[in-house]
Amino acid sequence: MKRKIGIMGGTFDPIHIGHLILGEKAYQQFGLEKIMFMPSGNPPHKQHREGRATDEQRVEMVRRAIEDNPHFALSLEEMNADGYSYTYRTLERLKGQNPGVEYYFIIGADSLFDFDGWKEPGRICQAAKLLVAGRNHVEKPRLISQMKYLGEKYNGEFFLLDIPNLDISSKMLRKWIAESESILYYVPDSVYTYIKEQKIYK
Ligand code: ATP
Ligand code: MG
Repeated sequence: MKRKIGIMGGTFDPIHIGHLILGEKAYQQFGLEKIMFMPSGNPPHKQHREGRATDEQRVEMVRRAIEDNPHFALSLEEMNADGYSYTYRTLERLKGQNPGVEYYFIIGADSLFDFDGWKEPGRICQAAKLLVAGRNHVEKPRLISQMKYLGEKYNGEFFLLDIPNLDISSKMLRKWIAESESILYYVPDSVYTYIKEQKIYK
């Protein structure tokens, strides 16, 4: 039996309950051993963008958000010095290091519809199975047909997660904070406090 490990990649600017619910449902529904939360690095020229968190702050928010969940872990695999790294490279590197592991890469519907434009979709599909969550109220048949299309085109395995639509995005939360609208309960309390302390997104 191969070890099965989930990967939740994202900018996490900030991490929110949508990301956490996706990770937990994937863990449970696919019998995964653990979920690695993997914040993507920013390239050097995007390191200090106005109204955004720094790499360090994004990592700290993820750390706080997942600390109480024993099957969630933080991965700094994409936090390298030159910043940006492509998903296929990260997955191939992980697979090379851990040939006994079966990786499950978790994405939302928006990423599913962008997937064709990602770098080396075929290599992503060879390195991991894809777990897809609906988003933005995309109709299920549209979702399924896109999964089928990509699965055939790239010889990949796409599976649907059973999760209700979660109306939340980091973009919405950044906007709310900038407008002094409360984001309480949309992020874990520890993240809420950190954002306040550090005055991020103001
Ligand atoms: P932003 O608004 O800045 O793009 P985001 O909320 O989309 O932030 P990301 O870090 O971009 O968060 O997302 C990481 C992954 O999680 C992506 O694959 C995205 O599709 C998925 N995701 C995030 N939020 C949701 C959600 N509410 N429902 C389903 N998938 C989600
Ligand atoms: Mg996004």
